Amino acid sequence: MEEISNFIKTIMKSDLDSGKTETILTRFPPEPNAYLHIGHARALVTNFELAKEFGGKTNLRFDDTNPAKEEAEFVDAIINDIEWLGYHPANIFFGSDYFGKTYDLALKLIKAGLAYVDDLSQDDIKVYRGDLNNPGKNSPFRDRSVAENLKLFDNMKNGKYPEGEKVLRAKIDMSHPNINMRDPVLYRILFINHHRQGTKWCVYPMYDFAHPIQDAIEGITHSLCSLEYDNHRILYEWVIEQCFGKRDFPKQIEFGRLNITNTIMSKRYLRQLVTEGKVEGYDDPRMPTLVGLRRRGYTPEAIKAFILASGLSRINSTIEGNMLEHFLREDLKLKAARLMAVVSPLKVTIDNYPEGQVEYLDAANNAENEELGKRQIAFSKHIYINRDDFALEKPDKHYKRLALGLEVRLYNAYFITANSVSQELEGNITEVHCTYDPATKSNSGFNERKPNGTIHYVEATTARPAVFNLFEPLITDIDDETISLADRINPNSWVKAEGFLENPKPHFEEGEKYQFIRDGYYAVDKTSTDDKLVFNRITSLKSSTNK
Ligand code: ATP
Ligand code: MG
Repeated sequence: MEEISNFIKTIMKSDLDSGKTETILTRFPPEPNAYLHIGHARALVTNFELAKEFGGKTNLRFDDTNPAKEEAEFVDAIINDIEWLGYHPANIFFGSDYFGKTYDLALKLIKAGLAYVDDLSQDDIKVYRGDLNNPGKNSPFRDRSVAENLKLFDNMKNGKYPEGEKVLRAKIDMSHPNINMRDPVLYRILFINHHRQGTKWCVYPMYDFAHPIQDAIEGITHSLCSLEYDNHRILYEWVIEQCFGKRDFPKQIEFGRLNITNTIMSKRYLRQLVTEGKVEGYDDPRMPTLVGLRRRGYTPEAIKAFILASGLSRINSTIEGNMLEHFLREDLKLKAARLMAVVSPLKVTIDNYPEGQVEYLDAANNAENEELGKRQIAFSKHIYINRDDFALEKPDKHYKRLALGLEVRLYNAYFITANSVSQELEGNITEVHCTYDPATKSNSGFNERKPNGTIHYVEATTARPAVFNLFEPLITDIDDETISLADRINPNSWVKAEGFLENPKPHFEEGEKYQFIRDGYYAVDKTSTDDKLVFNRITSLKSSTNK
């Protein structure tokens, strides 16, 4: 794998070289309220790869301090996704496991005169906070005594007040130029059943208070987060210093978020697609979730290579979606066996071939990688070719496929010439009648004539019926916010084509990947059975014309 090179690596290296730290410990902190998507993969890959680079470790920490949204289902899904990408967290922790220590640190701040219980309503707190041009105003409750604050906070913890009646705030500076420093709320009252803590707590710490404490308790050295936390860093450092004393670590470093063209990565949207039944589920092969990409057939190697190649900078970046496809092709080019499949079948009869006879011809499994060996492919009087590999008349001189009066090579078999067609009343072609030339057998050294291109086929009597799931982007015109999500679903985003595959083996396992020649890369879908194979087209070949 390409070496990861970025500004965070430079910081880590200098911290190691200067002896400030001996090890690197990072953490990946997803909220267990959704499935991971390709954007999360940037944070995930970055944290794990950077730590690995320096022989360090990475914790998985579920950021479940906000009890309203978490669900246990997502915890398992996230662990699976991380393992699937090939990473092994040094520890799996939950932010909520630190609620006791976090509460004790809140008491410590109260005792130091650095936190107070405020009775202002949420709306008043906002008004008192001021804005970028105006300093804030002190709350009338700001100067309560330590003893009173301790008493009130204890009451809050014991459920004596309803939600919203009181909060605990840090006492910093109401005219600080950074609004996050204007006495931020540290704790709020919530009567909610937490997925791990149950009803043990009715005061919950805010992210800005809980996160640095969690990092410090775990001994995280470099706490990487996305750019929107940039102007929270000053508060992160304040919390660390007041709770633990001034120290070099943990230190927060921000990186730019990853956006991908034509791809919606907001959790809210993805959840909406699922709950409104617009997609089959989080693992719908059109979804940018890791489970969706995995079902579609994307490999961990391709996803990691994509993330690393997209680079890491301090600014948000938008990457072309087809870059991911590029890395998939790179990954599977030599790994995947190449088979012949016909996605839109057209019957071809070889009139001069004996009825009832099937012969088997040698074919390489991957012309570019001999190690994948060979197989036998069937040929007979009855075959299928793709409908778009045939035209009644050659449309132009660039056309390198079959047409009436033209001769083409069938991959690994013979040259055939098209002589006539059977048509339905409406003109629909139902069958092409051809003749073959036995002298042109593949590998026979025949070179007397140049065919009008090479096409592929599937022998009809041994063919396996298959459904080919063909995908286009799920959402069209995603820049137009005026059209509702439901109306932006691309009606062609999932087309199920019925066709045939050659028959190289009895059983296809879910997730196996192949190149179907002259078409694309496919993966065996989870709905596939040996009677009816189902394949997902991961991506087309770069050039799907005659090659
Ligand atoms: P929310 O704002 O709803 O919490 P989130 O995208 O921040 O959504 P988390 O589960 O908190 O979701 O994300 C875990 C980590 O993944 C965070 O560090 C977050 O910054 C990072 N992350 C999420 N989306 C992206 C993205 N598109 N690019 C880079 N990092 C991302
Ligand atoms: Mg978040």
